[in-house]
Amino acid sequence: MNIAIHMKRAGRSFGENRAIALGKTLVYTYAELDDRCARLGRALCSEYGLETGDKVAIVMQNRPEYLELLYGCWYAGLAVVPVNAKLHVNEFEYILSHSEAKLCFSAGSIYEDIAAIEGRIETLDALINVDDDAYRRLFDADRIELAGVEKDHLAWLFYTSGTTGKPKGAMISHGNLFAMVSGYATDVDRISPQDCILHSAPLSHGSGIYAVAHVVAAACHVLPPSRGFDVDEVFSLSQHWKNTTFFAAPTIIKRLVDQGQGLDVSGIKTIVYGGAPMYVEDLRQAQALFGERLIQIYGQGESPMTITCLPRTVIADQATPDWEAKVASVGIPHSVVEVRIADANDTELPPHEVGEILVRGDTVMLGYWKNPSATEVTLKGGWLHTGDLGFMDEQGFLTLKDRSKDMLISGGINIYPREVEEVLLQHPDVAEVSVIGEPDPEWGENVVACVVLRPNSPLTASELDQFCVEHIARFKRPKKYHFLEALPKNNYGKVLKTALRDMHT
Ligand code: AMP
Repeated sequence: MNIAIHMKRAGRSFGENRAIALGKTLVYTYAELDDRCARLGRALCSEYGLETGDKVAIVMQNRPEYLELLYGCWYAGLAVVPVNAKLHVNEFEYILSHSEAKLCFSAGSIYEDIAAIEGRIETLDALINVDDDAYRRLFDADRIELAGVEKDHLAWLFYTSGTTGKPKGAMISHGNLFAMVSGYATDVDRISPQDCILHSAPLSHGSGIYAVAHVVAAACHVLPPSRGFDVDEVFSLSQHWKNTTFFAAPTIIKRLVDQGQGLDVSGIKTIVYGGAPMYVEDLRQAQALFGERLIQIYGQGESPMTITCLPRTVIADQATPDWEAKVASVGIPHSVVEVRIADANDTELPPHEVGEILVRGDTVMLGYWKNPSATEVTLKGGWLHTGDLGFMDEQGFLTLKDRSKDMLISGGINIYPREVEEVLLQHPDVAEVSVIGEPDPEWGENVVACVVLRPNSPLTASELDQFCVEHIARFKRPKKYHFLEALPKNNYGKVLKTALRDMHT
């Protein structure tokens, strides 16, 4: 089954529903949007000679055309390659060449950047600017019939954020997206046609995946004119449209909390957060502002947005005796996957023992595009090896420790940076922190903390050390502190520990 069936269904059965808005202005109903997708699908095949399975790259910021491009391609059985618009032009070149996309849609200055390197990308037949007339003319084509595809047909080539090494292209099938949608409705949130999703987070990543779940319900997609996260805009658009959901990384939630005090949150229905650790201290503050609106998910490109979910009821119920442990977890497995914790031999570990998180189920990718060796390692034995470490309790709540490569071993003992970070963040003068390991001839590794203090704080390393003495085992205390203006982050807001290690060890 083709995932674009949901667009066709929404166009036919919910045709009058709001489909896309730009800021506070409605742009298309579902009848109009579906029609555009079906026409675009035809034009891609007839004018550019694309055939089922060919790939089409989308390299632009969030804008209304994004959705018609995703569904236009799927209508015609083509696969999409949405690329993070904030990457460097060399990274665009790598992904465009590696993916073998035949067409690339872009806009604005990104279009200019790609036009300058277009000649170097052998497999690319055409680069199209969505602001040009040539793009508008594509919609003169007749509608195409929805292509029949099998569940393992490639829908989305999802390039991992690549905090280390070259990004890998996780192959996400139509079947994977159907399973993700079903997990969203069952485990994350119910969506109704009166709801809106605000796409402030990149459509090339989490927000795009969740767009698919919102098309199923014929809900409205609101594109912010800022094309990103602007705190006032988030509050004002959600107030305008009401029943608004959005996905945000924990760093964004922190910004919303810092700058959003006193603003009206009643237009927000749900905030799904994930993608990086949410520290308990930050969550406590977020919960005070957003109440029952917060839901956490844990996923990765290889099982998009779908491994575990921490429901809103758990987050909101601060009276639960083990609330802190529960919200420090990433919740329970989505109903559409199996999750287990395993040792280095893939043998399942008992509750509370830390091991690698393995995932099996219909959301797990087909493999990595043109990378059989990485596919073999990552999907060994039919389980997705996430590279994340964690443990499960008896009730199935999963607590992430760290990525296996981020764990430190000092004096033969495992130290999980996250645990030290959680403690340091409890200090009122600490705004952000990231803990890394530094090689040490005697201990193997030393704990090093990279700290961003709140403005004008006079806090010193010895005061932080004293704070740690009071809160964690002595061997976990950082041996060194680096005070920084800001932590290096990638374009999805994840802290780049590799960059910190290069700079400070
Ligand atoms: P990506 O494939 O870019 O979405 O990155 C996925 C990785 O982000 C996961 O393997 C985790 O290491 C991390 N991650 C995702 N969700 C969470 C979460 N809720 N809490 C902590 N880390 C997360």
